[in-house]
Amino acid sequence: MSAPVVTRFAPSPTGYLHIGGARTALFNWLYAQHTGGKMLLRIEDTDRERSTDAATAAILDGLAWLGLRWDGEPISQFGRAERHREVAEELVRMGQAYYAYETPQELDAMRETARAEGRPPRYDGTWRDRDAAEAPAGVKPVIRIKAPREGETVVYDKVQGDVRFPNKDLDDFIILRSDGIPTYMHAVVVDDHDMGVTHIIRGDDHLTNAARQTIIYKAMGWDVPVMAHIPLIHGADGAKLSKRHGALGVEAYRAMGYLPAALRNYLARLGWSHGDDEIMSTADMVSWFEIEDVNKGAARFDFQKLEALNG
Ligand code: GLU
Repeated sequence: MSAPVVTRFAPSPTGYLHIGGARTALFNWLYAQHTGGKMLLRIEDTDRERSTDAATAAILDGLAWLGLRWDGEPISQFGRAERHREVAEELVRMGQAYYAYETPQELDAMRETARAEGRPPRYDGTWRDRDAAEAPAGVKPVIRIKAPREGETVVYDKVQGDVRFPNKDLDDFIILRSDGIPTYMHAVVVDDHDMGVTHIIRGDDHLTNAARQTIIYKAMGWDVPVMAHIPLIHGADGAKLSKRHGALGVEAYRAMGYLPAALRNYLARLGWSHGDDEIMSTADMVSWFEIEDVNKGAARFDFQKLEALNG
C-alpha cells in the first residue's frame, strides 16, 4: 500500500484569499478527501515586510467559510526559520552547497557580462571553489546550492507532463540570505519534506521553482513529492485575471450573499470538469476528483456562470 496522501495549501499572507488561491485550496482539499488523506495548511509568512496578521486571519476565515477544513494547526513558515538554516548548513557540510562571499560589484559584473552576451543573468559559481580566507572584509556570505551544470532537471508533473529544464539555465541559486533568512525556494522544500507532504498542487507560476526545488530535494537525498501545477485563471478576454473581470476576493462574494456551495462548485469547474456536469454536489466532486483530469490550458473566469450557479 502506498503512503496516505498529504496535500497542503501554502498561501502567502499578503492579502485576502483570492479566487486563484481558493481554487488551489479546493483542489488540494478535494484530492485529500478523495483519497482519504489530509490537507495541511502552511502560512508562508517568511517575508516579514509583506505578511500581515490580518491577511492570515482573512485566509483562515475564507477557507473556513468555503468549508475547506485543513488538518491540524496551521504552520507558520517564519516559525521554522531555524530549521531552514540548519538544513542549509547541513547541505554545506555535505558538500552540496557553499558559502558565497559575493559583493554587489561582483554580481553587477556578472549581470553586465550576461547582458553583453545576450543571455539571462546567472551566478557563475565563483565561490564554489574559492576559500573563505579570500573573502573581502566585512562581507557576510549567502549559502548557494551547487546546481548540476550538465544535463537537465525534469519535473514530472501530473498536469503538465514531464517538463524539462536544461541545467545550464538553473544556476547556483541562493538558499540562505546573508541575514540568515531562508529563501522561499529553500523554505518550501524543507517544510514540505518535514510535513510529510506527498502531493504538491499549486499554480503553474511555480513550475520553474519546482525545477529548482527538485535540485534541493536531490541534494538532500529526499523523495520529491508528486507535483501538479495547475494552469492560472484568465478572464473571459484571455488576460490575466483581475478585478475588472469581476473576480473578487472570497470575502466579497460572501458579503454579497453567495453560498459557499455555489462558489465551491464554480471554483471546481475552473480548470477541472466531470463530463458535462455543470452542477455538482460536494460529495460528487470528492468522489470524482482526479488530478489527471485537471486541464492543461488556462481556465477562464466567467462571472455570469458564477451568478447562474448561485441563482
Ligand atoms: N506561498 C506561495 C504562493 O502563495 C505558494 C507556494 C507553494 O505552493 O509552494 O504563491
